[in-house]
Amino acid sequence: MDTNRTSANPDLGGIAPTRDTVRIVPDSAGLERAATLLRDGGLVAFPTETVYGLGADATQATAIAALYAAKGRPQFNPLIAHVATLDQAKAEGVFNATALKLAGQFWPGPLTLVVPRHPDGTVCDLACAGLDSIGLRLPSHPIARYLIEKVGRPVAAPSANRSGHISPTTPDHVWDDLNTRIDAVLEGYASPVGVESTIIACLDDHPVILRHGGITREMIADCLGFECAEAGHSAGQSKPLAPGMLESHYAPHAKVRLDAGTLVTGEAVLLFGPDQPAGMDEATPRLNLSPRGDLTEAAANLYAYLRRLDRHGITGIAVMPIPDHDLGAAINDRLRRAAAPRP
Ligand code: AMP
Ligand code: MG
Repeated sequence: MDTNRTSANPDLGGIAPTRDTVRIVPDSAGLERAATLLRDGGLVAFPTETVYGLGADATQATAIAALYAAKGRPQFNPLIAHVATLDQAKAEGVFNATALKLAGQFWPGPLTLVVPRHPDGTVCDLACAGLDSIGLRLPSHPIARYLIEKVGRPVAAPSANRSGHISPTTPDHVWDDLNTRIDAVLEGYASPVGVESTIIACLDDHPVILRHGGITREMIADCLGFECAEAGHSAGQSKPLAPGMLESHYAPHAKVRLDAGTLVTGEAVLLFGPDQPAGMDEATPRLNLSPRGDLTEAAANLYAYLRRLDRHGITGIAVMPIPDHDLGAAINDRLRRAAAPRP
């Protein structure tokens, strides 16, 4: 049961203590219970429109230390603080005109804004990895918003998976990765967007896209009236420009091979649209991200399909080419990093 929860001990040095993880139905009693767990320093996974997040009270350093330990996440990798209102965001960060414009257009939704930390902000240094900037997001998912509002404090919520593994889009994915490491999973439906938030740094007059995600570069250009600069994530770039943008990430156990024209024996195939690679036969395990070639549908299916193909006892996953526009930019970014050499 979820009583007698030990709050995290920072002295454990990154070793996550074993916890009895409970599944919670998100009715009003369940949401109250989840909010109480978070306020008491616990770790609760919950649905958002992008992927399932692993929540912890962003103002409590002990809770944040436990979150890093549960995920096995390097502590130099800052967390995004999730808020319920724009006013709450403005209490934690300093919003310039560009940040306000983007928030006005895309919040609530899958957009994270990196802004200077507010001098009176409440988010702890550990959650910000000691930086003088902070990543803030106001999610649109009704369960996420209601929960954050009930907690009454910013909630840090990286994806609810072991660090480096595939992000979860269902409660079962969370369970597979984090059962016994967290206090609870709030069970909602599958995350509709399916890839993480877009991250834009608004630290001066020149906004920079740090990570592609649920809000496309085309939508951002429409909002700002110019093409936003991009940084940090192209394959082959050796040094991440944003902290925590590790090259190998979102990785299944099987080796991932991109732009596959011809299958290698033993590979499963991740299809997109009507085309098939040479060498595919009846026996080839396959899933199609979107038979009709729809990038929104493909993004929503991406992580679940990588997990499902990974279970076939295959030697690798061959991925068909995916167009790089709209949500394709986020999909290709995740696939490149799933395919990157493992540390
Ligand atoms: P996630 O792994 O989805 O929780 O996203 C966290 C990512 O947001 C980090 O890995 C950083 O790249 C980015 N991020 C969060 N806060 C900041 C910040 N203050 N400055 C730059 N990037 C940040
Ligand atoms: Mg993640």
